[in-house]
Amino acid sequence: MTSPHHRATLSDGREVLFFQDPDSSAPAIFDDPRPGAPRPDSGTLRFDALTGEWVAVATHRQTRTHLPAAAECPLCPTSDHRPTEIPAADFDVVVFENRFPSLGPDLGEVPPVSAEALSSASLSAPAFGRCEVVVFSSQHDGSFAGLGRVRARTVIDAWANRTAELSALPGIEQVFVFENRGEEIGVTMNHPHGQIYAYPYVTPHTAITTARAQRHRRETGRPLMGDILSFERDSGERMVLGSEHFSAFVPFAARWPIEVHIVPHRQVAGLDELDAAERDDLARVYPEVLQRIDGLYPTPTPYIAAWHQAPVNCEDRSAEWMHLEITSPRRAENKLKFLAGSEAAMGAFVGDVSAEETAARLRAVTPARTAGASVPGSATSAHEQAQR
Ligand SMILES: [Zn+2]
Repeated sequence: MTSPHHRATLSDGREVLFFQDPDSSAPAIFDDPRPGAPRPDSGTLRFDALTGEWVAVATHRQTRTHLPAAAECPLCPTSDHRPTEIPAADFDVVVFENRFPSLGPDLGEVPPVSAEALSSASLSAPAFGRCEVVVFSSQHDGSFAGLGRVRARTVIDAWANRTAELSALPGIEQVFVFENRGEEIGVTMNHPHGQIYAYPYVTPHTAITTARAQRHRRETGRPLMGDILSFERDSGERMVLGSEHFSAFVPFAARWPIEVHIVPHRQVAGLDELDAAERDDLARVYPEVLQRIDGLYPTPTPYIAAWHQAPVNCEDRSAEWMHLEITSPRRAENKLKFLAGSEAAMGAFVGDVSAEETAARLRAVTPARTAGASVPGSATSAHEQAQR
């Protein structure tokens, strides 16, 4: 397992971890100069008796930082006159516990809900868990697509480490690694970063996909994602790119105007199971997919990149196959898809474009050349690159 190069503690007790590029010198980490403050109490989980789903209520998040200017950014390095969340003058990749977590800081097991008597007590539980922020670069401007292969690989190592360590914490049932990019989809800080949620329950989406994968395995003896991979690779119509260890394609039943799944060719349940060659390959493939998405329009496209990993206590891991889903609501240069009645109320999607068309558009983009040449944080969209 990849370990962080340094661990430190912020003045309020939160953990901060430093991961370094292979050729990078050790960051100068100093004590967090801010006064110690108590951490917020954990929020509450409320059980929706209608659907059987947990809803996290974290009211303290209303006060969290919203779109700070670069001079106020809490994800930039600490300087002489301004302390930030990262007590170092420079760094490569940093992970720290979220100051305004939806889950945690307390850990523990969520008790099962009894159907016998509905009461506010029986339908509530502490919002146990842990939320972390993953900062991709010390540079305020940029995006994952422009990190370069070396840095992307360090981020992948950090994700793998967090997946393994968070899975081992008491009460954690699922580790979700993700990135939201773009103010249009609610990003509150522009500094290139992602997040990790370690849930004390299996999320509604994963409960559905896991049940399907388990059933497919029982009925056919094969993992479902392996069959999907063969279907997409044989057809080829929706492929965006293929490498030695990964395939990227627009899924057959894409819900969003832009949707790409990146799937490893070898069955693994989580990021921590990827070997060195696979991580190297992913550090090339993933940024290239993002560059192709950014190349569709003159301005950066908002997206959600979501790692779907096996639940921690999964019944049958031989059915599980980790993958990445990148989705964007952007359906034209100045138009976003909004979830209307059918999607929002019923979860029944109505698509606007065909998956084959989206795949053809993504294949036609010339991705920016980042291999080894780009400066970390210097995000250049494929479009900007093409304009030069
Ligand atoms: Zn910043």
